[in-house]
Amino acid sequence: MPKVSDVARITTRCNTIWRTCAGCELLKSLPPDVDRCTACADPEARNILEKQAQLGRERLYRYAALVGRIEAWALLIPAVSDAERLEHIRQALTADDPDRAVR
Ligand SMILES: [Zn+2]
Repeated sequence: MPKVSDVARITTRCNTIWRTCAGCELLKSLPPDVDRCTACADPEARNILEKQAQLGRERLYRYAALVGRIEAWALLIPAVSDAERLEHIRQALTADDPDRAVR
């Protein structure tokens, strides 16, 4: 029966082994003579990855807040007409789209 590790081997170079990185302690595909992943071996690459991860977390939090606002206007706020609900949801969608400024 195939195992998850078998699938991982298919997607990695043949001379690499899945081991714990000495820097970040995450499981990485590393050549036998290397004990740190690319990000840990290169501080600049690590900084770039950390900045990308931070941007990803910030985007995730903004989307979660947006979903909460939409849920509130759609379901939780009482005594509001459907037109008002839709208008508030429309405002939330246009004001909080994190990717809008990038496009
Ligand atoms: Zn690492």
